[in-house]
Formats: sequence, C-alpha cells, structure tokens
Amino acid sequence: MNEKSNLSEQERCLQIIPSWIGDESLYSWCCRWHLHTLNRTRTTGVALFGVPSAAKVWYAPNPFGWFDRVTMGLLGTPISILRNRTVAGSYLSLAQQIDRKRVELGQLAPAYLFSAKSGVGTSLRYCEMCAAEHLAEHGVAIWRITHQLPGAGVCIDHCRPLVECLEGRQIWASPHFKNGSEIRIATPRELELMLTVATIARKIFKNAAMDVDALCGSARKVLCEAYGALDAKRLDPERVERDWRCSTLCQWCTRTMSGVKAFPRFWLTDFIRGRRSERNPIRWAFAIAYFFEQSWTSVDGFFADASFSNSSQLSL
Ligand SMILES: [Zn+2]
Repeated sequence: MNEKSNLSEQERCLQIIPSWIGDESLYSWCCRWHLHTLNRTRTTGVALFGVPSAAKVWYAPNPFGWFDRVTMGLLGTPISILRNRTVAGSYLSLAQQIDRKRVELGQLAPAYLFSAKSGVGTSLRYCEMCAAEHLAEHGVAIWRITHQLPGAGVCIDHCRPLVECLEGRQIWASPHFKNGSEIRIATPRELELMLTVATIARKIFKNAAMDVDALCGSARKVLCEAYGALDAKRLDPERVERDWRCSTLCQWCTRTMSGVKAFPRFWLTDFIRGRRSERNPIRWAFAIAYFFEQSWTSVDGFFADASFSNSSQLSL
C-alpha cells in the first residue's frame, strides 16, 4: 500500500465524538479526545486533522475539511468552530468583510488573518477556579476560549489572574498537566483594568462583524476631546505617548507581557490615523480599556458611540 492510500485509510469517522463542554476551545476538545484514546500525539493529530503535528498549530487548524468529515459535522460547521472555538474569532470580528467571507467559504486560510500581526502570545491560559469546577463537574479540566483571547490575562468570572503555560505547545495536554505560572497582578487597580481588557476582548470575540471604521472614529473622538484637538492630525503624538507610558495598563504590559511589540511608540496616534494595523484585537482591547482608565469614556459608552456613528452613517 502506498502512502496516499494509507492516509485515506486513516480518514475515518471517530468512534467517540464528545460534545463541547462550556466555552472550551477546539484545542481543549482535541485534548479531551486524545486523553480518551491513549494515542500518541502524532496519531491523534492524524486522526483529527490528517497532520501528525496538528498539536503545534496554535491559532486555527488549516486545513479544516478533514476534521469536519471525521466528526461528521456533529460539532458544528467549520466556520462556527473557527469563530466560536478558536482565537481566529477575534480576528474574524475585525477582519475586512471580503476576507471574512473568503475564510467562511474556505477560500482563505484562517492563518492569513494572523499574518503580520504582532504581540499576540502563544501561551495557553487557564483559571485555577474554573479548572477545579470543571474537574468536579466533568472529571476533566478544559481550556476555555475566553481565557485564550488576545488581551485576556484574568478570569472575568472569578476576578483572578490566569495561570499561563509558556512552554511551546507540542502536545495535547489539559490544564494541570502543564507547569504554569500565575500572571502577575500587582494592585487592585491593575486587576480592575485587566478585567476591563478581558471584558472588551470577549466583546470583540462575541461580535461576528465589528465595524472597524466606526471604532476608529469613536477612538479619534475620544482622544481629540481628551486633548482638546480639533482633529486627529492636530494631536501631539509625543504627549499622547507620554501619558500612555505613565498609565497603569502600560506599566502592566511592560512588566508582564512578553509581546510588548503590540504597543510600539506612538501606537495610539498611529492607530487612529490608520497607519498601523487597526484590525488587531489586542490593540483594541487595550486602547478602549486605556480610555476607561483615563476616565475619558466608559466601555459601554464607547461601543454605543461606535455603533451610533455607524448607524447614522448608514442612514445618510
Ligand atoms: Zn475562573
């Protein structure tokens, strides 16, 4: 038998297809499936995705057809899994309409959405209290997608820092099978602000299609009002940068985040002027939380304003 027929031989419907637990990620589901089978890592990769090294794929599986066939569509359509069970959901939310459509139709690999994006870590994160609850209820701890979102450093449900597993993901491992360390939160104010970041990250993820132009317009308005500038061109990037550097959120990022790349010098002014990728979910999560930190806007107020300017544009 040659290798090709060997592979098609291996594409078989799975014997067990457990349903999702809560908001677990696709990777988490694969870990649970792997635990059941007692397979080797590579064998599970081939069984689920047709690729031995599938466990290493961080953002989103690609190609996805194999997984859809072997699970007989019982877990949902590929696009719904991509949207709701992988961090690709955050990027899809902010993607251009045309790209979103092409990913949906399977014409564009999800990885395209992540290329040229910086500052998003590849660690796995879990909350010890969530893990304990899931263990008690389901006999297994899961990786919640909410905890993997770009910008999430704390558990919104338990108001506590997540445990971060930094070593490269090579295997299918449930929480507790890995050594991790708790993300450091130094003060109650930091916790409050990181909860805000996590809440915004979830809002972005849950929204199927955000209007980035409207978000940018809203952000421009907030900054111009805060600095008394007539328009974005008249904002002093040095001053905006200096204030950001002094903020609690920036200090947290500098101290904790391995990927400070996400916030290069003048990122805020460049961001609202559309000079840098404004489709990066981690930047939006931090930008809006920063406006909240400065008491320039509330989170709900910001989104209401963005959707209002959007609808007024539509009615013109
Ligand atoms: Zn929790």
